[in-house]
Amino acid sequence: MSKRDYYEVLGVERGADQKEIKKAYRRLAQKFHPDRNPDDDSAAEKFREVSEAYEVLTDSEKRAAYDQFGHAGVDGQGGGFGGGGFGGGAGAGGFSDIFGDVFGDIFGGGGGRRHPNAPQRGSDLRYNLELDLEDAVSGTSVDIRVPRHIDCDRCDGDGAEPGSTKETCPTCNGMGQVRMQQGFFAVQQTCPTCHGSGVHIKVPCHKCNGEGRVRETRTLSVKIPAGVDTGDRIRLNGEGESGINGGPPGDLYVQVAIKPHRIFQRDGRHLQCEVPINFVDAALGGELEVPTLDGRVKLKIPAETQTGKLFRLKGKGVKPVRGGPAGDLLCKVVLETPVKLSEHQKELLRQFQDSLGESNSHSPKKSGFFDGVRKFFEDMKP
Ligand SMILES: [Zn+2]
Ligand SMILES: [Zn+2]
Repeated sequence: MSKRDYYEVLGVERGADQKEIKKAYRRLAQKFHPDRNPDDDSAAEKFREVSEAYEVLTDSEKRAAYDQFGHAGVDGQGGGFGGGGFGGGAGAGGFSDIFGDVFGDIFGGGGGRRHPNAPQRGSDLRYNLELDLEDAVSGTSVDIRVPRHIDCDRCDGDGAEPGSTKETCPTCNGMGQVRMQQGFFAVQQTCPTCHGSGVHIKVPCHKCNGEGRVRETRTLSVKIPAGVDTGDRIRLNGEGESGINGGPPGDLYVQVAIKPHRIFQRDGRHLQCEVPINFVDAALGGELEVPTLDGRVKLKIPAETQTGKLFRLKGKGVKPVRGGPAGDLLCKVVLETPVKLSEHQKELLRQFQDSLGESNSHSPKKSGFFDGVRKFFEDMKP
């Protein structure tokens, strides 16, 4: 597959500065982000493409190589952008979140060029949490199980079996990077012997196989504040992946989604529901029992209520998590046609129909409708 030009991918001029590139990237990355386009392979591919273009064009050395030699100048370098926390988190099934603060962490450090032993902040993690509407409205506390990497306790995160010696990597002399001749020019590559750490471990730790980190699943109790809605994110400081080389841990983001409810639809702080009403109550007026999140309440229906009419129950909606008054509950009455009528009941309805006569005055909508139809056909006449 031939690759598209990186400038074309980001839609910027060849002379674009870092600010323009960053801006173009943010826009495209948000548009094609896998979270916004689940099950869309072409979006995932576009997302990968813009990320790659961004990575190269914001790195002055890579950009210079690309400008001079095209894709051949930058392909096959190190792990591409996989090392920064991108591909690295893929195994966790959507656990790496690149938005918000994370942007700066993944790209800000200059990719593979940072010193191998410099402290690095751990990756952020994301947990998708589905909540019932009732729990979201009243607030709750849930236990979630979060898989993450932590420092290996056997080797204290250092990767070497306790008691064994470590030495400077002979391949890269501790730099973590080597220069490789590729065609006409030299490229910097992550050292293949030490994978960028700069250290040669003679005996890898038996528990973590020299990784310095192990995977564990922790159970965390998360307090869900009352009023949260789909799209809200709760941050748990320091509950992400542990840092590397003594860097601080990342954060855990709990991403909230509200499950569909059998009765209520939520629209921000307001709730909506449909309430069936029979045509006698609708015509004569009456009292309906309607559901709210804290029990049933009586709703007075005036005479001559039409189907689809909305009744507003003030304050029976949701109190927003960011403060402010509770919203309303909007009850939409839906007129129900009677079924399974006995012969006697049918006869009563026929009598009732006869009593209305030819006049349309009892049917405001119908008379308006037929006036409209008549006018429509009159207008059509030549
Ligand atoms: Zn090395
Ligand atoms: Zn270990």
